[in-house]
Amino acid sequence: MSLKSDTGSSKMLNENNKVLVIGVDAATWDLIEPWVKEDKLPMFQELMKNGVFGELESTVPPLTEPAWTSAFTGVNPGKHNIPDFISGFERRILTSRNLKTETIWQIIGKQDKKVILVNIPFTYPVEKVNGIMVTGMYTPGLKSDCTYPPELKHELSKKKYVIEVKVLDELRKNKDGCVKKLLDMTEKRKEIALNLMKENRWDLFVVVFVSIDRVQHFFWKDMESEHPKYGGVILRFYQQIDEIIKELIEEAGKQTNVIILSDHGFGPLRKYVYINNYLLHLGLLKLKEESKGRSLFQKIGVTKENFIKIGFTWIWKLLPDGIKKIKTKIPSITPYVEDIDWFKTKIYFYSEDGRSLRFNLKDRDPYGILREEETKDLTDFVIKKLYELKDPETKNLIVKKVYKKEEIYQGPYVHNAPDLVIELNDDYFGKAGFGEKLVMNAGEDILDKSAEHRMNGVFLAFGPDIKKGFEIKKSKIYDVAPTILHMLGSPVPEGMDGRVLKEIFTENSRFFKRDVTYLEKDESEKIREKIMELKLLRKI
Ligand SMILES: [Zn+2]
Repeated sequence: MSLKSDTGSSKMLNENNKVLVIGVDAATWDLIEPWVKEDKLPMFQELMKNGVFGELESTVPPLTEPAWTSAFTGVNPGKHNIPDFISGFERRILTSRNLKTETIWQIIGKQDKKVILVNIPFTYPVEKVNGIMVTGMYTPGLKSDCTYPPELKHELSKKKYVIEVKVLDELRKNKDGCVKKLLDMTEKRKEIALNLMKENRWDLFVVVFVSIDRVQHFFWKDMESEHPKYGGVILRFYQQIDEIIKELIEEAGKQTNVIILSDHGFGPLRKYVYINNYLLHLGLLKLKEESKGRSLFQKIGVTKENFIKIGFTWIWKLLPDGIKKIKTKIPSITPYVEDIDWFKTKIYFYSEDGRSLRFNLKDRDPYGILREEETKDLTDFVIKKLYELKDPETKNLIVKKVYKKEEIYQGPYVHNAPDLVIELNDDYFGKAGFGEKLVMNAGEDILDKSAEHRMNGVFLAFGPDIKKGFEIKKSKIYDVAPTILHMLGSPVPEGMDGRVLKEIFTENSRFFKRDVTYLEKDESEKIREKIMELKLLRKI
C-alpha cells in the first residue's frame, strides 16, 4: 500500500511542522498484533512496517479521563487534578473546568499555532481555542456548549453528527442496532474531521475515536466464544478505524507527521470482586441497622438495568422521577452507599472505574470519623489485608498492587485524589456497592461488561521525520504532550512529567538534531501552586 501524495496548495502553509494525532480509545496490541499478522488490518500493518510502534503505559488507574488528560498536558493527575471523573465524598462529576494545567493546544495557541480538536474526552464544556474545538465524552448533546466557534454546532446538527451513543440503552433495545449506531457515529466523525481538515488551516489536528472502547466492553465475550453473529464485531470496528486512519493520513498530506495512540489497553474481565464486602468482613465498614433487611436491593443495586434484570420493570416505572434521575445518572458508582453507616465506617471502596478506596476522614468528609494520624497504621493494615485477599473458589490471590496516592501522584492536587488505588490481577474487576458474594461471575448478562481497561496502551508514529519499523520501549502517556510540542517547535513547559520521545525521529531529522527547549514557570505561578498545595493540606 502506498499513501497518496499531497497536491493541494492550501496545505503547503506551515506544512513541515504539522502534527496529526489520531486517538483510538482503548485500542490494544493484544488484538492488533495478531490481526496484523493475519493481514486483517492493512493500515496498522503499513504503519508498523514504515513507522514507530510500541506500548504506551497508561496512568494509574488506566482510566479514560485522567489518561487522555495526561496525554495532552504531559503531567500526572496530582498536577492536572483529574484523577477520576468524580471527586470528593459527594462524588461531584468533574469537567474540563476542573483542569488545573495547560493543555498543549493552550500552549501552542499562545504561539499563534492553529488547532483543530475533535472529540477529545473530557473537554466539555468547550473553551475558546486558536482554531476549532468539538468536545467529546460527557458532552450532554449538540445543544450544549460543545463547539468553538459556537456556530459550528448548527452545522454539525445539520449533518447529523453524533457525539456519543448511549450504549447501555441501545444494547437493551437491540444488539444489532447498537453496533450500527456505533459504526455510524464513527463514520460521521470521520466525515466531519476530514471536512474540518480540508477547509481550515491547522498546525495540530487531534481527533479521538471511542467506538472500540464501547464494543470491547460488551462484545469481548462474543469474540472469545466465537459467537456466530457477534464474534467478529470487535474486528469490524478495528477495520473501520484502520480505513479511517488511512483516509486521515492521506488527507493530511505526506509531509505531516502522525501520532496514533490509545489511552489504555484492554483485556477480559471474568469476575467481579466486591471490595466493600471484604471491608465489611474486616469490620472497617459498617452498614446501617435498617439497611440490613434490604437484602435484595443490597445485592442488586437500584438501577434501571437491575430492575429489568429481575423482571420488575413495572416497579421501576412507579418510582418518582427524582429518584430515578439520581440513580441512573451515575449507576455504577452509588449503589448502597446510602446504606453505609458513616459514623462507624473507616474506609470504603470509592470508585469502580477509578479502582480506588477512600478513608472517612474527620477533617475532610461530612461524616468523617478518622483522624489523619490514625490513617498511617490503618493504611498498612488495609494494604496487608488486600494482598491477602483470595478468590474463595480458586484460592488465587486477587490484588496485584495497592498504591498509596503519594506513590502515584505528585503535585499540588494530590490531596484531591482518592487515598488508595488498587490494581487487580487480570480477569478480576472491583465492583461498586455490595455483592451477594465477595466474588461473582461477570459477563453473564447482556448489560454486563466482559472486558476492562489495562495498563498497556498503543503508540504509533509515522511520517517524514519518523523512523521506519522501529519498536519503541518504555513510552508513557505523559510523553505524548512534550513530544508533540517539540515537533511543533514549541518549548516544553517546566514541570511536565513526560519526556520528548527523541528516539522516534530519524537521526537526520530536524527534530532529532534540535535540542529540547524548556519553558521556565514564572515565579508567580510557582507561588500560586505552593499556596494551593498548602491550602489543600490545610496548613494555611
Ligand atoms: Zn478510554
